[in-house]
Amino acid sequence: MTSAMDTLKDLSGTMALLALLAVVYGVTLRRFGPARGARVALGVVFGAAAILAMGDRIPVTEGVFVDLRNLPVALAGAFLGLPGASVALAMAVAGRLGIGGSGAMAGIASSFIAAAAGLAWDRRTRSPARRGTPTLLGLALATSAHPLGAFLLPLPVAMRTVAAMIPILLPIHILGILMIGCLIERERASHARERALRRAAEHDPLTGLLNRRGFERGVARCDQSQGGALLLLDVDHFKRINDDHGHPAGDAVLRAMGDRMASVLRKGDLVARLGGEELAVFLPGQPAAAARVVARRLCEVVRARPFALPAGGTAPITVSVGGAWGRPASLDRLIARADAALYAAKHAGRDRCRFASDRPGPLASIPAATESACADCVLRLTCLCDSERDVQVERLDHFLPSEAA
Ligand code: GH3
Ligand code: MG
Ligand code: MG
Repeated sequence: MTSAMDTLKDLSGTMALLALLAVVYGVTLRRFGPARGARVALGVVFGAAAILAMGDRIPVTEGVFVDLRNLPVALAGAFLGLPGASVALAMAVAGRLGIGGSGAMAGIASSFIAAAAGLAWDRRTRSPARRGTPTLLGLALATSAHPLGAFLLPLPVAMRTVAAMIPILLPIHILGILMIGCLIERERASHARERALRRAAEHDPLTGLLNRRGFERGVARCDQSQGGALLLLDVDHFKRINDDHGHPAGDAVLRAMGDRMASVLRKGDLVARLGGEELAVFLPGQPAAAARVVARRLCEVVRARPFALPAGGTAPITVSVGGAWGRPASLDRLIARADAALYAAKHAGRDRCRFASDRPGPLASIPAATESACADCVLRLTCLCDSERDVQVERLDHFLPSEAA
């Protein structure tokens, strides 16, 4: 044990350097998240640490040295996933090949063992929000198997090497993994907690869809130079679902609504529950004509099949949709116009879509005769769904040309 303490003292500079890996890991995670590219970049840093650690070698017996290179390699396996671990391992292997000598293959094999043990530990322990000291001790013990790489040497040499390394290297490796692993795990857990909180703040707990805040942020992130379409959906006579089948049935319908809508939408489209049984969809960059097709499909996909209820049985559901097209920067205005269109869809009998004109003009410009012929004219809206309304749109073409269906 004394020699382990002496060796630890000799390797303390390297150990301090390796502790910095936790800082780099935390900063990278905060800046770039756990994306594949970030993990590969961290793999380069962990690999560089392994190469640096090789420069700080301590002789154990004649011709046998120990260093801490497998510590960052094992940590890369445990915390960077396969992409980061592969990069760190490749760099450690290249570094060991660069040193050369008859023990090169054994050294390389020991790095493979360290990385594989780290990866296996990560797979088995991923679920808990925070992996505590006993779990990290498991990582330290699993990755302590790396001296077994020495068995690529002739057996007597391997036995001598392992016997000399174990009492010195094992305590230092376990201590290093516990210390540095604990720091890295703290960074990982705190970042995961932050992400979970941010997700909770921007999502609706019942449906898992975005909430209003998440929706506003998502829309603000969209390309402001392009327009987009906003659709507001309101379930028709939703109160009856609650009254007839109970509140849990209403909740189940709301949860299923998101899945139904997803089948009609593209990957970059944003879907939110703004409150109650009112949902919003933002279609970034979609021209008004395409948005009308999406609005119609949303009505159709909800109407197509009755919704399964938790207590058994089904309920037919329909939605009314109000749409507006414009720049995402003016979301409040867009919502107000889509809301007016939604009101008109409800007013016209529900289970249909209405679009706000993207060329609103003064009401005074609407001919009095037409105004009385179509309630929608007052709101400067046009019809999308039913053919009867389409006829009225045609009649309005002279002052709402862009809205002709
Ligand atoms: P309309 O066609 O005019 O939209 O009729 P409606 O019955 O859908 O509209 P109304 O505004 O009268 O009723 C909305 C109902 O939505 C009343 C409320 O109990 C119900 N509701 C709101 N939030 C939830 C929820 O989270 N879960 C359930 N189950 N019901 C909800
Ligand atoms: Mg409703
Ligand atoms: Mg409503």
